[in-house]
Amino acid sequence: MKAIIIGAGIAGIATAIRLAVKGYDVEVFEANSYAGGKLSEIHLGEYRFDAGPSLFTMPQYVDELFELAGKAQQFKYHKLDINCQYFYEDGTTLTAYADEVKFMKEVAEFTDEDPANVMRYFKNSRNIYHITNHVFLERSLRRLKTYLRWDTVKSIFRFGQIDAFRSMHQANVDFFKDKRMVQFFDRYATYNGSNPYQAPATLNVIPHLEQHFGAYFPEGGMYSITTSLVELAKSVGVRFNYNSPVDEIVLNGLKVKGVKVRGELHVANVVVSNMDVWFTYNKLLKSYPKLQPKKILKQERSSSALIFYWGIGKGFAELDLHNIFFSADYQAEFNAIWKERGIYHDPTVYVNISSKFKPDDAPAGCENWFVMINVPANMGQDWDALIAEARKNILNKLSQRLGEDIGSLIRCESVLDPRAIERITSSYQGSIYGTSSNGQFAAFLRHANRSPKVKDLYFCGGSVHPGGGIPLALLSGKIVSDWVDM
Ligand code: FAD
Repeated sequence: MKAIIIGAGIAGIATAIRLAVKGYDVEVFEANSYAGGKLSEIHLGEYRFDAGPSLFTMPQYVDELFELAGKAQQFKYHKLDINCQYFYEDGTTLTAYADEVKFMKEVAEFTDEDPANVMRYFKNSRNIYHITNHVFLERSLRRLKTYLRWDTVKSIFRFGQIDAFRSMHQANVDFFKDKRMVQFFDRYATYNGSNPYQAPATLNVIPHLEQHFGAYFPEGGMYSITTSLVELAKSVGVRFNYNSPVDEIVLNGLKVKGVKVRGELHVANVVVSNMDVWFTYNKLLKSYPKLQPKKILKQERSSSALIFYWGIGKGFAELDLHNIFFSADYQAEFNAIWKERGIYHDPTVYVNISSKFKPDDAPAGCENWFVMINVPANMGQDWDALIAEARKNILNKLSQRLGEDIGSLIRCESVLDPRAIERITSSYQGSIYGTSSNGQFAAFLRHANRSPKVKDLYFCGGSVHPGGGIPLALLSGKIVSDWVDM
């Protein structure tokens, strides 16, 4: 039995490993000259940067792949003591310690919030996780089997507790009196590219994933997740073809026959598309317009990102691996992104510095800054003008807060914007998490992992169920492989 995977993103690689372990002969076709898609790296002179994801949570889903393949764990990572360093516009600095007791002390010392409220919040977050985890994350919502399980039935009875009928922000305002805590927890909406003023409070589950399960740093940097899994895949027989864009999914009636790569037909029993579902239908299946799930393809896309990779000629002791410099007015910032489809003049700036833990990512005494802001998906905005303005505003903000002229410390630079994300990874509109989770029922409306119309056609990755982000992309591979017959 032969399986073809379209795309060597993290979900494609995970699916390939699982199907190979299941006994399939697996071949991956990747358009780029390298694996990883968004989870890749760039080099600028003596500096190395992880190109996309920087926050690693739920490493157990990577471990699981090594266990499944029966191979020794090659991939090493360690748990962070500090999840993130927060800088507020009013001058407050808050260290989000992984250790709850230490974090509560920090909350008591630097905010007006009662730490008991934060503990109550985490408990609520945990409760939502226990109700939703089995149903929404680890299984398909489009499979009868899912609903025949006792844990699903229990979750359905507890549906009222998942807080789906108010926004994350409304729930956070009800929990906290200090607006710095509200902003702290509203930010978790950006973990899947959503807007806390619209996304359902069910997403307040996300802090539990970070606080309870922890945030981690892969010893070889984020890109080592990709390289380790590619090696694992090869060790179980998966074959990778790079510079091999799939042009078409070929059908035989309503059954998959194979794919065409540069005009050549490759026959397979099963095809799994790791390409964004929007492009899968609009490019690879364009000869079959009747197959298009029109409502799904019209869904709002998640936000995108603007990233400056800066080689900085100095070290900053006050910064950690993950650093957030909040805007003064979060609502205005999200309105600018979601309503005006532009960039707010005082954006929340995220600075990730992998050289804090991997010193060879920058020359001695220097740091590699991955500087990111949330921006709208690409709808034809004048990005060159927006980027120039944002760069100026970010430099002013960081320079003011850190008391240094950051612009003068930049030794080398590269920029990634929504247009490039769309071009490099074939993600429609450059959105980084597929569709947005702003609607109450967004989790139910994502495209399923199996085609409802074409036999043996499957989908994995951030644009389909269960959603974007490394853990969920890895889980999509698990759902696909559970579904594929042998
Ligand atoms: P992709 O990585 O998009 O891979 C798809 C692959 O398919 C690509 O390699 C592409 O070239 C290939 N492909 C597409 N079409 C074809 C074709 N026709 N033929 C052959 N190959 C094709 N997640 C986190 O967990 N933590 C974070 O901190 C985080 N931060 C992020 C920051 C940025 C800037 C970005 C861009 C993303 C971030 N994410 C983060 C999201 C995370 O990167 C993605 O959800 C995840 O990597 C998606 O993996 P994927 O396999 O679905 O798709």
